[in-house]
Amino acid sequence: MRNNEYVLGIVGLGGQGNWHRELIDSIDGLTVAGIYDIAPERCDFAREKGVRVYDSRADLLADQEIDIVLIATPNDVHKEIAVEAMRAGKAVVCEKPAMMSSAEMQEVMDVSAETGKLFVVHQNRRWDEDFLTMKKIYDEGMLGEVFKIETRVHGSRGIPGDWRQEKEHGGGMVLDWGVHILDQMALLVPSKIKKVYCRLDHVTNEIVDDGFLVILSFENGVTAVLEVGTSNFINLPRWYMLGRDGTAIIEGWHLEGRIVHAQKLDDKDIVPVRTASGITKTMAPRREDTISEEPLPVQHSDIRDFYRNVMDTLGGKAEIKVKNEQVMRIMRLMEACFLSAERNQTVDFE
Ligand code: NAD
Repeated sequence: MRNNEYVLGIVGLGGQGNWHRELIDSIDGLTVAGIYDIAPERCDFAREKGVRVYDSRADLLADQEIDIVLIATPNDVHKEIAVEAMRAGKAVVCEKPAMMSSAEMQEVMDVSAETGKLFVVHQNRRWDEDFLTMKKIYDEGMLGEVFKIETRVHGSRGIPGDWRQEKEHGGGMVLDWGVHILDQMALLVPSKIKKVYCRLDHVTNEIVDDGFLVILSFENGVTAVLEVGTSNFINLPRWYMLGRDGTAIIEGWHLEGRIVHAQKLDDKDIVPVRTASGITKTMAPRREDTISEEPLPVQHSDIRDFYRNVMDTLGGKAEIKVKNEQVMRIMRLMEACFLSAERNQTVDFE
């Protein structure tokens, strides 16, 4: 603690560690003391930015001024750094995926309980405005009873050419993006997940999954379809939610979307669709007077609230928002996905 400011040390100043460093610059009451990274070029980069570079992880952890350690290394070293940091008396903010397995997560939660030190995972995509907008639609019943939700993240460049391609570092898209969209879905639908089905893609990478399809069956009747792809040259919508009274869509990353409500479900005067080989009334488009279109109830957020909540929790003024029990549930859910993919079978979950 320095001048009533919480002080944070960064372990791993890659792309994401540097994103945190820049973000923290704009947060009152939080400063970065310095960084440690095993790559000399990242240490040079830090020095160029005027950031202190510690000679070793032990040096950083021994700095009495540091209250919080941010872990932004590849996934396989999260656990050892988290355990060391908490034993050195620091609170820990850890990048996602928290750990490589639920067993590792349990170990870290045990050390947090034993040392009384906060361990919190940076599930930043809980602050995504598209997710918050879909949550508002769901929570307020704007589509009537929801029966299906589809969420997709599509790219076309395969897995980035770094540790994400390697199993031993915790690579693959389930751990990378799956952890975000499974977490979002679990928060969106407040119900037990009864069944999990998963297929993994290996289009550009044989070792780790470069995409996946997951289908979750919730106890309350909702079916969720979650898909990540890295060989998609045409993207499907980011979100698609179906209720008995309407449908909501968010097309891309920037909240481009709409809600279509049914005004009259019993649309009788149907003009059939004629195709080359036949007709269909079932799938014919609706007449304009039987539907209405509305804009999305767009929700805004401030990602700095993640750190504000961490500081308020440390100051005894708030409860932590990203709870370890929730993170553990998602770790177990990802393990259920891998098991389902291996067996090519639906597996029971809760
Ligand atoms: P990166 O490869 O760009 O950076 C990782 C850095 O850690 C590198 O500079 C590397 O030299 C350093 N490093 C590796 N082992 C280390 C060790 N033992 N001690 C100290 N430094 C070490 O990767 P990245 O994209 O920054 O990802 C880092 C973490 O952040 C991963 O866990 C990743 O999943 C997570 N991440 C989260 C988000 C998000 O939106 N929450 C986005 C990107 C990455």
